[in-house]
Amino acid sequence: MVINEIFYSLQGEGFLAGVPSAFIRLAGCPLRCKWCDTKYAWDKEAGRHHSIPEIARIVQQTQSKFVVITGGEPMINPDLPKLVKKLKDLNKHITLETAGIAYIPEMPCDLMSISPKLSNSTPADPKLVEIHENFRLDLAVLRELIDNYKYQLKFVVDSEDDLSEIQQTVEKIGSVNLEKVMLMPQAATRDEYLAKSPMVADMCKKSGFTFCQRLQILLWDNQRGT
Ligand code: SF4
Repeated sequence: MVINEIFYSLQGEGFLAGVPSAFIRLAGCPLRCKWCDTKYAWDKEAGRHHSIPEIARIVQQTQSKFVVITGGEPMINPDLPKLVKKLKDLNKHITLETAGIAYIPEMPCDLMSISPKLSNSTPADPKLVEIHENFRLDLAVLRELIDNYKYQLKFVVDSEDDLSEIQQTVEKIGSVNLEKVMLMPQAATRDEYLAKSPMVADMCKKSGFTFCQRLQILLWDNQRGT
């Protein structure tokens, strides 16, 4: 598999924020979101080839029980089920971070962390818009993921106007447990994160959705490898 990076840090986002975790970042994502903070992992060859036993060995060195498989977009990698199985055989707790654009059944994953993309993610470059919009929101896939995995739904908020789109998206997916919906500020830097957080907090109070921290930005200003 092409691995962009493996590192040990704290989970920054979601209901497991703060839990020390080993991160495996897979290479490749077709979405090209405007504000993506891992552009260095977009290309499917952006990294080094590792066998699954090699990946498992590096993860074991961290001695972390919690493993986060992220990207890029892990769900488009055909070897993902084998990697998940190998890590589960090592008794790891596995979170899979995905934009929810592809469904793979029956993986022994402990938490599917789904971040469906809103229209605020559409790239400025007209050449990228079509592919982005084709992949961005697949309601059938999102439905399969929430029906078949333990999940959380994280939406990236750029402005107050995003709330109605989030509520409509949740309604369109259907049967979403509202306690699992989280809103997180769109921010590339600590200053931006702190500036947008009060707005997102107010949106959470208004809607009942949960505020999603981004500890990697707050603590380390979004440095790579955190
Ligand atoms: S889906 Fe995630 S990794 Fe892919 S471009 Fe969007 S923010 Fe970046």
